[in-house]
Amino acid sequence: MVDTVISEATTTRSLIEALGAPAVLLDEQGVALALSPGMRALVPGLETGKLLALVLRDPDLNDAIDDVARDGGSKTIELVERVPFERAYRIHIAALEGVGRRRTLLTFQDLSEQRVIERMRVDFVANASHELRTPLASLLGFVETLQGPARNDERARERFLAIMREQGLRMARLVDDLLSLSRIEQRAHVAPDTPVDLAGIPREIVDSLALMAREREVTLTLHTPREPLQVPGDRDELLRLMENLVENAIKYGKQGGEVTIAVEAGDGEASFQVRDDGPGIAPEHLPRLTERFYRVDTAASREAGGTGLGLAIVKHIVLRHRGRLTIESKPGAGATFKAILPRFQAAGAG
Ligand code: ADP
Repeated sequence: MVDTVISEATTTRSLIEALGAPAVLLDEQGVALALSPGMRALVPGLETGKLLALVLRDPDLNDAIDDVARDGGSKTIELVERVPFERAYRIHIAALEGVGRRRTLLTFQDLSEQRVIERMRVDFVANASHELRTPLASLLGFVETLQGPARNDERARERFLAIMREQGLRMARLVDDLLSLSRIEQRAHVAPDTPVDLAGIPREIVDSLALMAREREVTLTLHTPREPLQVPGDRDELLRLMENLVENAIKYGKQGGEVTIAVEAGDGEASFQVRDDGPGIAPEHLPRLTERFYRVDTAASREAGGTGLGLAIVKHIVLRHRGRLTIESKPGAGATFKAILPRFQAAGAG
């Protein structure tokens, strides 16, 4: 008999210790008997032999545990901790029957990440709508003016139509960028596997952005290896990545400055780098630069025709290619954006 009780308790304990989710088993006094590794990570102060109520001092949680310990059954509550930072959990409290004395099992589900994702989704929809609404309001305003007060004013009509075209183009760019972003995200889990010559792409970019560079009197310098440098890639996406980075360097770099584009081979890797000698970016902005719609200077970005999505697209392309993006900048001394991608390995090689 004693043997069975011991073995049951041991089984329960090893069961809890094997759980992936944060879980803790309590005795009838609320003392922790067994913890899963996830629980130790979630509440570092909690150990076996300690009273849970002393570590998680939440009256609602402790009332719910008492209720379940007394009446059996189960309860689910949500707990929000604000210190040291905001975290939210859903806690399921259940009485365990048939394990000798009454035991209570608590399992935790971390809601923080889910809430962050939900908040990002809501923010994204709000931001995208706001970005579209501004040019749309301006377009409608001009249409009304042209239908009303400026109906017979030829000069005003020409001027307004030019502005309306600008606003229409801005909306089109925004919708294009939103669609590209969503297409890249949809394919995020399928890494591209076609060999693409990274060294061959920048020439095309330099040609297509030559006019823009000339307008800002920027000199584009290109360093590429003579040999092809293959990466498993999606050529259109890599073209887009390079174009966005070079375009930013021209737009936000120095008027009359120099933009250096380099493709280099590394150990099992290949990199694409763009450096400008413009005003650079203050360190506090660097971690947020690849967020959708994040801009250092909103007016300057709009002025330059920016949608605020260019670097978000770059980041997602790099991630889909299983690579990484580094951004280095010292205010006043330009910025360097570098995409590092794995090299193409022919099947059976290595
Ligand atoms: P945008 O459409 O505004 O250009 P991006 O996502 O491409 O959007 O860039 C986000 C912001 O990062 C820009 O608005 C700009 O403030 C900053 N930025 C990007 N590249 C550079 C650069 N080379 N030098 C300085 N600032 C830059």
